[in-house]
Amino acid sequence: MSKTLQAIKGMNDILPDESPAWQTIEDAARVIFEQYGYRFMRTPVVEFTPLFVRGIGEATDVVEKEMYTFEDKLSNESLTLRPEGTAGIVRAAIEHNLTYGKSERLWTTGAMFRHEKPQKGRYRQFYQLDVEALNFAGPDIDAEHIVMLGRLWKALGIEKAVRLKINSIGDIGDRTKYRETLVQYFSRHQEKLDEDSQRRLTVNPLRILDSKNPSMQTMIENAPRMLDLLNEDARAHFETLQTLLTHAGIAFEIDTRLVRGLDYYNRTVFEWVTDQLGSQGTVAGGGRYDGLFQQLGGKPVPACGFAAGIERLVLLLNEVNPTKPKAPLAYVVSQGVAAKVAAWRLAETLRDAGHTIVLNADGGNFKSQLKKADACLARLALILGDDELARQEVTVKWLREEDRAAHPEQEKVDLHVLGDWLNKI
Ligand code: ATP
Ligand code: MG
Repeated sequence: MSKTLQAIKGMNDILPDESPAWQTIEDAARVIFEQYGYRFMRTPVVEFTPLFVRGIGEATDVVEKEMYTFEDKLSNESLTLRPEGTAGIVRAAIEHNLTYGKSERLWTTGAMFRHEKPQKGRYRQFYQLDVEALNFAGPDIDAEHIVMLGRLWKALGIEKAVRLKINSIGDIGDRTKYRETLVQYFSRHQEKLDEDSQRRLTVNPLRILDSKNPSMQTMIENAPRMLDLLNEDARAHFETLQTLLTHAGIAFEIDTRLVRGLDYYNRTVFEWVTDQLGSQGTVAGGGRYDGLFQQLGGKPVPACGFAAGIERLVLLLNEVNPTKPKAPLAYVVSQGVAAKVAAWRLAETLRDAGHTIVLNADGGNFKSQLKKADACLARLALILGDDELARQEVTVKWLREEDRAAHPEQEKVDLHVLGDWLNKI
């Protein structure tokens, strides 16, 4: 296959064999988010570029080097494939007055795009579960997000494989002070800064703390801590958050270096991490962004949110608690014109009753139809030939090893009681 007819590197097909794990995660997330009163919404995949530049911040990795930006051929406007979900949701909230005199608990899911080096757990098109709580000021909503994720991990059976890191990066005033303190500190160690960090020293010194460069770790560990510079309100906010988490039975560690990669955060930041996915260990991250509405031209609205990477959750789930492949209850096999019609009707009737039924298509002899029944992992084959039809019955064949031990290999069941019979097994 020529290269230009293949998928783009870092943009994956999610094949049917992989999708049960995806569905396990997406289904559990939907149930849990809605249990907490979060309402679903969607925003477009493409937005005007300035939304992300302003929202996420010019000096972030995402804006500096990861965005898929292009010029619209007709309007000549600069457009960008969304690299994350928050900016679009806040834009929509401002545009449609969603938080006028009220707050909103929202969630969404969809594809995000970042031009990164593809590797395990890091792709160019990837999917996030995204939760945003708009017009909430207190730490109780920050705690709610963390607790809600805790519930999701339990529902997926991966709670032992993840741990929680939290930090507070204070308010804008605190960060200005902290930035100066950091610039002074790092300037004294300039010879140890790598090229990226040299550049960041003036543009965005906080991001130096996020550097993964091993040779800079000791210096970073000894850097002044944001936590020591918090204003009183921010400190109280962070302390209440910790109390709420403790009451909820959620263990956490305070990571004073945790700053997150996007500029819009203030006060609470958190990450759920795992040690089982190498350096792509962050499965979810979020925090408070009280300044973003204003940054994007709206009135000040306090808010917080998080995003979880579905691919990383899939990798973790496959390792810790694999999802069983989905299988239909029965595969309907038939032969003969009249039997085929009856089989069609039978399949529809059983589906009316809520059963998962695959009907053989494209004919074939009994043997080849049974082969297909087996291949789709059906538990039963329901066989309808002219003989069966004449007697108004179905031959039921158990297809799975574990069932064959407990049942006769084949049995006849009256066509009219088959629904009840299936309900009982
Ligand atoms: P990282 O430090 O791993 O680059 P990030 O800080 O850039 O992550 P966020 O922007 O906070 O990530 O996105 C939230 C979550 O989305 C991440 O924790 C991760 O699970 C997932 N994620 C981010 N980038 C990618 C990617 N390129 N491929 C797959 N998942 C991703
Ligand atoms: Mg990143």
